[in-house]
Amino acid sequence: MTPLQGFERRDGALYCEQVALATIAAEVGTPTYVYSASAIAANYRAYDEALQGAPHEVHYAVKANSSLAVLALLAREGAGFDIVSGGELYRVIQAGGDPRRTVFSGVGKTAEEIEYALESGVGSFNCESEGELALLRDLADRLGRRPSVALRVNPDISAETHPYISTGLTEHKFGIPLEQAERIYGEFRRYAPLALDGVSCHIGSQIFDLGAFQEASAKMLGLIDRLAAAGLSIRRLDLGGGLGVSYKPGQISGSIAEYGRRLREALAGRGFELQLEPGRSIVGQAGALLTRSLYRKQNGEKVFVIVDAAMNDLIRPSLYQAHHEILPVVEAERPRILGDVVGPVCESGDFLARDRALPDVLPGELLAVATAGAYGFVLSSNYNSRPRAAEVLVEGDQWRVIRERETFRDLIRGETC
Ligand SMILES: *Cc1c(COP(=O)(O)O)cnc(C)c1O
Repeated sequence: MTPLQGFERRDGALYCEQVALATIAAEVGTPTYVYSASAIAANYRAYDEALQGAPHEVHYAVKANSSLAVLALLAREGAGFDIVSGGELYRVIQAGGDPRRTVFSGVGKTAEEIEYALESGVGSFNCESEGELALLRDLADRLGRRPSVALRVNPDISAETHPYISTGLTEHKFGIPLEQAERIYGEFRRYAPLALDGVSCHIGSQIFDLGAFQEASAKMLGLIDRLAAAGLSIRRLDLGGGLGVSYKPGQISGSIAEYGRRLREALAGRGFELQLEPGRSIVGQAGALLTRSLYRKQNGEKVFVIVDAAMNDLIRPSLYQAHHEILPVVEAERPRILGDVVGPVCESGDFLARDRALPDVLPGELLAVATAGAYGFVLSSNYNSRPRAAEVLVEGDQWRVIRERETFRDLIRGETC
């Protein structure tokens, strides 16, 4: 079972929906990100359906994949958005998303970003410090806006994931410790410019243990009860994103349906709106990075397959020791090798796979790096003055370039000698 959604093999050739990846590579070149529109839409709908019967909103976490066409597709499906910067809000607006159904999260919002969001009509803010809350109050007062505000609480829950994507412990920079949050709710409730009517948390990413989410929601419900006892009524509970997806054959993705069922059960009879902010579980498996192998060489015992995609295109293996399956686009009988798949960037940390059993890849052959739809293109850079990759969206037997490959001119835009 390949950790990809919307992709399949036909007579040995890898397809995204009804389009052969080899066709896309021949016309657009490599490296190129390819996404399945149906898979993205299906994942959004799975969340929406899993929460049927409970008042809910699904806010797609823009940072996972912020390409305009992806945002536009999700906006058409009815998604709201979770943003962490002014730039992301700009993208949401350009893509036709509704600012009123957008939540502004993030630990370091600037005054300019908050003003831009208030002026654009952003409906909700998740605040991460007392200082930010005071600034938001002043700016909302000046602009005559009254957004819904939640404190992002740090529930002190250890979710088993990579340390860089775990966020729910007191040692992390995110959120406000529970007791402190209660005091702040008490102090700020009097300030008319803010509707302090939400609570939020986000305990991390790539989490498979639904128990960790249940633990977090139980802590949030306890907080809501204590706030209610103090006379402060909460209208929305935002539990963040974080559901894990499978990157390896045989590993099973977190079940959206089961997650939704447990949340509905935990919240039954409660009056407020449940909000989720999934990113990875909407787009992760719906994308692959197409790359072409350039050379093969052997240094001592070690075999290297050198490809035209690098850490600047997909940094997850270098940054998080993440595993991505590497699949030949055209399957054929051949011996297997044990080797590293590396890019052209001048860093020893530039690899897509290490000590991987692979089919004996020939120079010139196309490969697909699986499960690259989330935290792929968005984390890409121009390191080594490499133009960023093209992106393609496939829908049935139709496909289109949704971002052109960068040119050398793009590399020097805004620069002077
Ligand atoms: C990153 C992030 C998300 C999305 O996390 P996923 O693991 O991609 O689902 C949601 N909410 C907040 C506040 C985030 O920072």
